[in-house]
Amino acid sequence: MILIKNTFIPLSEKTLNRFPIFYSRLVFTLVMISQVFITIFCPVEAMQIPDLDTKGDVYKTEGANDSLIYDSTIGNKKCIMLYADFSDAVMKVDTKERANGVLGNGLFQKLFHEQSFGKMTLDVEHVHGWRRLSKPASKYSSRTTESHRELFVEIFDLYPKIDFLAYDYIMVNMPRIGNTAFGERDELAIPYKGKKINVALNISSVSPYVLAHETAHLMGLPDLYTYGGVEGPKNPAGPWDIMSSAGKASGFLGWHRHKFEWLDANRKKYISSGIHRLEITPLNAPSGVSMIVIPVDDPVKPSKVFVIEISQPLRGKDSQNSVGVLVYSVDAKLATGRNPVVVYPKLDLLKAPFHAGDHFNHIDAPMGIKVLKKNEDESFLIEVKVD
Ligand SMILES: [Zn+2]
Repeated sequence: MILIKNTFIPLSEKTLNRFPIFYSRLVFTLVMISQVFITIFCPVEAMQIPDLDTKGDVYKTEGANDSLIYDSTIGNKKCIMLYADFSDAVMKVDTKERANGVLGNGLFQKLFHEQSFGKMTLDVEHVHGWRRLSKPASKYSSRTTESHRELFVEIFDLYPKIDFLAYDYIMVNMPRIGNTAFGERDELAIPYKGKKINVALNISSVSPYVLAHETAHLMGLPDLYTYGGVEGPKNPAGPWDIMSSAGKASGFLGWHRHKFEWLDANRKKYISSGIHRLEITPLNAPSGVSMIVIPVDDPVKPSKVFVIEISQPLRGKDSQNSVGVLVYSVDAKLATGRNPVVVYPKLDLLKAPFHAGDHFNHIDAPMGIKVLKKNEDESFLIEVKVD
């Protein structure tokens, strides 16, 4: 769960001052000509994927992270885990046992380490023992920014000896309030010792994947499941990312690993024209091109792209045949919970990946794909024709 806080402010100055489209197309053509040159003479060079244009001040998108809320997702991050309950929801389980459950005995830390290719490590400190909030659970809520902020103000007051400013991520195990990530700029953030804390989370589930989902919000990712009242398909990213399905996904889509700056430049390719035969390797492989990105609109400053990658295997009983070529769109104009990512499945969302011999074409997509073969090393040979 995460609060909907969509502040659709009218077009920003930045948007109004954008280059005229013909000029940016000219620049792009020149870049592409030089790119052909580079491809011929220096095949390792690749054109970078541009930051997506959100076309306004949109809350929590697939574009670049809002640096007024979120810190870098590279390096060693310090987390502090707390335990709080209520007089009408008394927690009896030992907090060490609870910690092992919610962290999956280290699965949580391992997931971020592996998904980041070792670029991010999470150290989790604990303040053991349940501390009691002053009022019954029914008096608290995470439904609005205000009530959520007040909850954290009171929680921080329960720990006068801790300096919460020393931590990157604050995680509170707590019954009844659900699983909710807080993330706001300073004007709405949590006041603390004359400063502001921009991100924190509370968790009632005992699942390392739900904790990973909420923690990824603290790093800037939007929800990929569909909020109530939003028009269009429901949950169109299916089980393919922890932000759409903490129950089935084993990791984050390539786009999210790119957004977090975990996926190196030589692991991804940005193409906007021509026919290309490409070997794509699984994201979890140590090397090779693992993500192909194709712009839908302005190639120099796209707001929407299509992505081709090899799916990461689903967990549990759905894992069989879950690895293949996955195709999805990413739209940075759409806020969290409004379907910023849409998977284009072969059959249904559970059987989304394409396999050798399959073709993909769709009226929404700027390209067609032929899956030519699967290699013994689990990579795929594909042909991409960009319209
Ligand atoms: Zn969420």
